[in-house]
Amino acid sequence: MTLIEGRTGAWETVIGLEVHAQVMSDAKLFSGAATAFGAEPNTQVSLVDAAFPGMLPVINRRCVEQAVRTGLGLNAKINLRSVFDRKNYFYPDLPAGYQISQYKDPIVGEGEVTVDLDDGTSRTVRIERLHLEQDAGKSVHDMDPKRTFVDLNRAGVALMEIVSKPDLRSADEAGAYLAKLRSILRYLGTCDGNMEQGSLRADVNVSVRRRVKEGQPGEPLGTRCEIKNLNSIRFIRQAIEHEARRQIEILEDGGTIEQETRLFDPSRGETRAMRSKEEAHDYRYFPDPDLLPLELDPDWVEEMRAGLPELPDAKRARFVADYGLSAGDAATLAADREDADFFEAVAAGRNDPKQAGNWVINEFYGRLNKAGQRRADSPVTAEKLSGLLALIESGEISGRIAKDVFDEMFETGGDAAAIVEAKGLKQISDTGAIEEIVDRLIAENPKQVAQAKEQPKVAGWFVGQVMKATKGQANPAVVNEILKKKL
Ligand code: ADP
Ligand code: MG
Repeated sequence: MTLIEGRTGAWETVIGLEVHAQVMSDAKLFSGAATAFGAEPNTQVSLVDAAFPGMLPVINRRCVEQAVRTGLGLNAKINLRSVFDRKNYFYPDLPAGYQISQYKDPIVGEGEVTVDLDDGTSRTVRIERLHLEQDAGKSVHDMDPKRTFVDLNRAGVALMEIVSKPDLRSADEAGAYLAKLRSILRYLGTCDGNMEQGSLRADVNVSVRRRVKEGQPGEPLGTRCEIKNLNSIRFIRQAIEHEARRQIEILEDGGTIEQETRLFDPSRGETRAMRSKEEAHDYRYFPDPDLLPLELDPDWVEEMRAGLPELPDAKRARFVADYGLSAGDAATLAADREDADFFEAVAAGRNDPKQAGNWVINEFYGRLNKAGQRRADSPVTAEKLSGLLALIESGEISGRIAKDVFDEMFETGGDAAAIVEAKGLKQISDTGAIEEIVDRLIAENPKQVAQAKEQPKVAGWFVGQVMKATKGQANPAVVNEILKKKL
């Protein structure tokens, strides 16, 4: 928790997120139309999506399965009976005049997510519910100076709305929560988490209350404002910070907060009013007469529970226990399923999995990030990286030389052993050869020899000279031993 200092005292920010996650499914929630991103406008629209009279929705089993698996991944209660309601409102990109959603009886009830913060601590954020609903179409305002176009490709695509309790206390915590949620969704394969394409977006509810000290009870929750449709973690953080400051200023000037819906303007970094908050009764929710209540077979749910993959928290714990990784490294590697698989493939057969973790995080991803590349672009496969580490473990090359070999592998896609062989980079562990160099250095540098006898640190200078003479290929352990003996 981070308190914000106002003019009249300290304030706490209270945040709850409503996350819209597009369900990974080839077809829409109630029609067989395709869902692929980037298609020509209005080419993925069935008569149901266009709300032609007399068309009937038919539930897509795949979308239900994805929602249930997500609920299970969020440690949430699965409701074996849920109801689809009509949420009525007018909008040009909503041809039916209502959205099919779930209101009183959602498919998933209360759950929880463990959120990992940058300072190494973690906290639990409670989930209030997850429900299935249709996405709306898109109004396109920038294609013509006078007209607005409507693209219905997205109309009817399945969304999961995941609502958190107001448990988050800072922009950092909200960002970490969304990152964790995205990680879990990707592990489950229920949402691709692509925020630029709008597959994952959030409405952010923010209020503030006075809080004298951390650990002491605050005032009751304040009135909240809801900032709509944010599609990046950076914008979410900026919007929360700006909105909390705005509310604090109003309250400190003796004003009150009006509950309203606001928009975030990324170019100005501020939020502005969009409309006063609508209440549930404004939507005239009622059960959709075209759809029966959704009843799930408990055996089917249990089958899905048993089939869940290992999720990030469990994987991280296993990486610490089985490979001896630090909690931080384990969290970094476990955040993404393919990163985690890559690491395990590198570590397979290695004596020192901790070293493998270091190499994957610092050298491999460090270099990819620098080059602005993704794992798939890299010519260095897990197997090849593992082969390089094998050469370090067997003492054939030093860690220092390994970095040069890795550079070469990264450029040419070559094999570590072949590069070492071709370039003659093998580590020199032959005592005779190193002794020869040491003897010569001792003969040539009597002054340093005298110093080394009094100050053991000067011995380090000799190590450097041996390395220079061998182009970094001398085995440092052997060099140290010989120097100790001879000096
Ligand atoms: P609605 O659907 O009208 O937006 P909900 O009751 O579903 O209302 O709540 C939406 C979100 O607002 C939830 O994520 C909840 O945690 C959050 N929320 C509720 N009260 C507050 C508050 N006082 N401050 C911040 N967030 C809040
Ligand atoms: Mg809302």
